[in-house]
Amino acid sequence: MFNSVLIAVDGSEHAKKALEVACQLVSKEDATLHILHIPEALTHETTLVWGIGAIALESSREVLEEAGKSVIERASEAARGMGASHVETHLSKGDPARNILRHAEKLGVDAIVMGSRGLGDFAGLMMGSVSHKVTHSAKCTVISVR
Ligand code: ATP
Ligand code: MG
Ligand code: MG
Repeated sequence: MFNSVLIAVDGSEHAKKALEVACQLVSKEDATLHILHIPEALTHETTLVWGIGAIALESSREVLEEAGKSVIERASEAARGMGASHVETHLSKGDPARNILRHAEKLGVDAIVMGSRGLGDFAGLMMGSVSHKVTHSAKCTVISVR
């Protein structure tokens, strides 16, 4: 049913569960799994940057990029371990929801898989903002994993 699936990972336990579901979908169909991660700056890092200046800004970017690479590498390894044979990784910058939607269209995937929540994980919230935006605007099937 699904020839290509996009999984969005933010490094959270929710996204890890979503990755398991995505792997089940592609291993049955021998389909392509696209793994996408958009590194997001943490609030305390931003504060640090304003305090220390340009050098901190540059090193913070590097730290963010390295952390991003590690999130995507871990997800990729886990996916292969769970039977995904065709894995492609994508690291992007900017607004997470917009990036997920843009990649889904550009890659022409049949479905987007994501966690219902992510790193934010505020108690009482049914769905995170990224999940909410993508679910409402995507042109393809969206699977929100709880
Ligand atoms: P919020 O960010 O609104 O505070 P949250 O972090 O709990 O809430 P979302 O950000 O909507 O929830 O995360 C839901 C899912 O969206 C994640 O499990 C993941 O699949 C995807 N996602 C969120 N942020 C990113 C990101 N930066 N890169 C890739 N995927 C993401
Ligand atoms: Mg957020
Ligand atoms: Mg989030």
